[in-house]
Amino acid sequence: MQTYHNTVGGKQADTADHQEIFNPATGASLGLAPLNSERDVNLAVDAARLAQNAWASVSDQERREAVARVAQVLEDNSEYLAGLITQEQGKPLSGPGSRFEMQACVGWTQVPSTLELPPEVVYEDDERKDVLYRRPLGVVAAIAPWNWPLMIAIWQIIPAIRMGNTVVLKPSEYTPIATLEMVRLINQVLPPGVVNTVSGDGRIGAALTSHPDINKIMFTGSESTGRRIIEASSRNLAPITLELGGNDAAIIMPGTDANAISEGLFWGAFLNAGQTCACIKRLYVHENDYDSVVAALSDLARQMPIGDGMDESNLIGPLQNKMQYQKVKELVTDACASGCDVMEFGAIPESGYFLPLTLVGNIRDGQRLVDEEQFGPALPIIRYGDLDAAIASANRLSAALGASVWSNSLEEAEWVAAKLEAGTVWVNQHGAIHPMVPFGGNKASGYGVEFGIEGLKAVTQARVMSIKK
Ligand code: NAD
Repeated sequence: MQTYHNTVGGKQADTADHQEIFNPATGASLGLAPLNSERDVNLAVDAARLAQNAWASVSDQERREAVARVAQVLEDNSEYLAGLITQEQGKPLSGPGSRFEMQACVGWTQVPSTLELPPEVVYEDDERKDVLYRRPLGVVAAIAPWNWPLMIAIWQIIPAIRMGNTVVLKPSEYTPIATLEMVRLINQVLPPGVVNTVSGDGRIGAALTSHPDINKIMFTGSESTGRRIIEASSRNLAPITLELGGNDAAIIMPGTDANAISEGLFWGAFLNAGQTCACIKRLYVHENDYDSVVAALSDLARQMPIGDGMDESNLIGPLQNKMQYQKVKELVTDACASGCDVMEFGAIPESGYFLPLTLVGNIRDGQRLVDEEQFGPALPIIRYGDLDAAIASANRLSAALGASVWSNSLEEAEWVAAKLEAGTVWVNQHGAIHPMVPFGGNKASGYGVEFGIEGLKAVTQARVMSIKK
């Protein structure tokens, strides 16, 4: 059986304990991943600390070139890494699956130019001049979830190293292998210690985020873990970027052409079998349009092949783990028990954590499938009569990562979008993110943003030089 390793200080790191990782589609064993101890965390943070001064001192141009080399490595190894993602995480090779995730990884090496962050005279008069400039924070602890494991790791790594920080990354214990392999490969083109990994469950995450030598925490995951991370950071006072869960609402404006938007709606809800933070998780449809929207979505759902993602004809994969599989099943069962109209599509394999694509009608706000972040291929469709009531429904939950408005009229859609409370409100699309556009949650979906110039600022320390004239 193959054993995978962390990379620490540019070298393969050995550890005493390991865990076996399984393919969620087939149950096949994929190999052994390290299960670290606190001592391993200390070694990784030490390696990152040792490398940081030198990395912060190289020229901006050198760091830009290093990131370009990382992009090339990702490109060169994308087929290998996509295969690992599919086997470990479940999303198919085809469609918006693991090859798409690898393309996104390459795309997200394109951060804004640091020329947009020059020293800035923030105040000047006859007696003084005050200049704001930015320095790296130091060692960044990055904690990633299992749904888009490589893409999210790249979101965390690239801005941090681009600005002169070094990183210790902990992938999810559900999906460590592809990430460890990616970090091993990119280390071939980076100085030792710039990007390191540790592996294990929440205990290792806690040891890393509470480590006294951490200067910044970048966390993507659930709200409950986010709260623990805030507590852990009281030990090191590291600033935190928190990207937490979402329960995104989409509102279809009355009279919108269902066929014109059905594909965008479908992938907005079922991307990665619904295991995407900014996915449509509640769909609000005007009562007059309900039948046409359900018919258009049903037509698409009926055509989607579900199965092992290594078979290139499949477009929908399994749930990543048993816990997630059981949670989504439980929420759909709850909806069935309360008399909802549960419509299931697609033939699913007999084994593996597969669920059919599920539309749930005759459902209301307050039911569990609507109110809880279900993170799976089950979409509640809620009828509304009054647009203001739909807007109030969309805004009533605290998981406010994204939202969307769908309409034949951009002007009307923008009017509704401005009333929605979420980090990003999309119009006639959902989840369309971009490396130059800041992304982050409102309310309980977290704070701070990634991407764009704001994302670069988030991995720097602002300092002021105040000069008496
Ligand atoms: P999770 O919170 O269970 O785990 C995320 C990571 O945190 C894992 O690496 C885990 O080992 C680690 N962890 C667990 N306990 C920890 C602790 N006490 N201290 C430090 N680290 C700890 O989340 P998950 O189930 O892996 O991911 C799914 C969640 O992530 C969903 O809620 C989803 O919406 C959210 N998510 C958000 C975004 C976003 O950009 N906002 C993106 C993807 C996923």
